[in-house]
Amino acid sequence: MSFQNPVFIPGPTNMPEALRRAADMPTLDHRSSLFADILHPALDGVKQVLKTTSAEVFVFPSTGTGGWETALTNTLSAGDKVLAARNGMFSHRWIDMCTRHGLDMQVVGAEWGAGVPLDRYEEILRADKNHDIKVVLATHNETATGVKSDIAGVRRALDAASHPALLYLDGVSSIGSMDFRMDEWGVDIAVTGSQKGFMLPAGLAIVAFSPKAVALTETAQLPRTFFDIRDMRAGYANNAYPYTPAVGLLNGLKLATEMLLDEGLENVFARHNRIASGVRAAVEAWDLSLCAQSPDLYSDSVSAILTPQGFNATDIVTHASEVYGVAFGVGLGEVAGKVFRIGHLGSLTDVMALSGIATAEMCMVDLGLDIQLGSGVAAAQNLYRQSTGHPIKAAA
Ligand SMILES: *Cc1c(COP(=O)(O)O)cnc(C)c1O
Repeated sequence: MSFQNPVFIPGPTNMPEALRRAADMPTLDHRSSLFADILHPALDGVKQVLKTTSAEVFVFPSTGTGGWETALTNTLSAGDKVLAARNGMFSHRWIDMCTRHGLDMQVVGAEWGAGVPLDRYEEILRADKNHDIKVVLATHNETATGVKSDIAGVRRALDAASHPALLYLDGVSSIGSMDFRMDEWGVDIAVTGSQKGFMLPAGLAIVAFSPKAVALTETAQLPRTFFDIRDMRAGYANNAYPYTPAVGLLNGLKLATEMLLDEGLENVFARHNRIASGVRAAVEAWDLSLCAQSPDLYSDSVSAILTPQGFNATDIVTHASEVYGVAFGVGLGEVAGKVFRIGHLGSLTDVMALSGIATAEMCMVDLGLDIQLGSGVAAAQNLYRQSTGHPIKAAA
C-alpha cells in the first residue's frame, strides 16, 4: 500500500490535510472554556449537515456501530417490536444487534442489490392495527451493495398507514455525501460516524435524536451507561463530557462541518453525484454491471461492481493493493467474491476518481478479464469534461 495514493474503500475515507492537522492537537483541559469552543460549534455544525433544527446531537467516542447501540438502548425495552429490512451487510448487522438486545424483530428479506421495500413496509404497518411496532429501521445507503434507499418514501409509508412508529436511520455512508433531510423526512434518530462523509479518522459515533426519540429515554429499559444520552446531555450543559472526550477528533469534526457547509451541501452532493456518474460510466464501458438493481438505487458514495461468473472479485482488491498500492473494497457477506467496491465518498475530486478507475482497469486486464485499457477512463473523462458546475470552470 502506498500512502501517496488515495483510497477507494467506502470508509475510512481520504483525509484532507487541514482535517488531519485539526485532529492532531496538543492536550488541552477538556473541562476548560477552550473545549467549549470546540464542542458547541461541532454539535451545531452537525445539526446543519443533518438539516435539522429540532434534533439534539450527541457525539460519543465510538464508531457508527456504537451509534446504532445508542439509538436502540436509549429508546427501547426488551421485547419491543422493530421492523427492519435486510438488504446487505450493514442492515444485517444492525438487525443482529437488535436481536442480541432482545428486541422482537420483524425482518423483511430483500435481495442484496435491492433497496428498502417500501410496499412491504407499508403493508406491514397497515396490518399492525394495534401499533405494536415501535420503531422502523432503514439503512439509507447499503455500503455492501452500493444501494441507496428512499427515506422520504419510508416516511410516506408510515404516514400512509397512519402509524406512530419512530423512524431510525443508518446514515453512516450517506450523511455528508448524499442528500439527507432529517426534519423534512421525519427521521427520529440518525446515526453516522466520523470516518466517512466527515473525512476524519474513525473514533466518533455521531447520533441525532428528535424530541420524540429523546422522550423515550425516560421509559426505555434496555441497559445503558456509556451510551446514555441523558448523561451526555448533562455533560454538554457544563461544556463537558461524562468522561474524557476525544478532543482532537471533535476539533476535526468542527472543521469538517465548516468545510462541508463552506462548499455548500448541495455542491457536495452534486460533486459526489458527478464523481459516481463517472465511475458508473466506466462500469458501463467495461460491460460490467452494478450490484444495485436499478438506476434509482445507485449510490453516489460507493459502487459495488459485479464481475463475471467464475471470477473471484476479491482478486482485484488483492492485486490492486499488492501491485499498485491502491485500496478498493471487497465484497461482504452474500456478495463476497462476486463484487468489488469503489468507494467514492468524502474528500475526492474527479481527477482522484480517474486514478481509481485507471487502477481498477489495469487490475482487471492483468487478471485476464476482457477489458480494453483506457475504456473506462475515457468514459469517465468524457463525463467529467462535460459536467457543468465543475469547480475549475466556475473559477475561469
Ligand atoms: C461503515 C458503516 C457502518 C459501521 O460503522 P463503524 O464506524 O465501522 O462502526 C454502519 N453502517 C453503514 C451503512 C456503514 O457504511
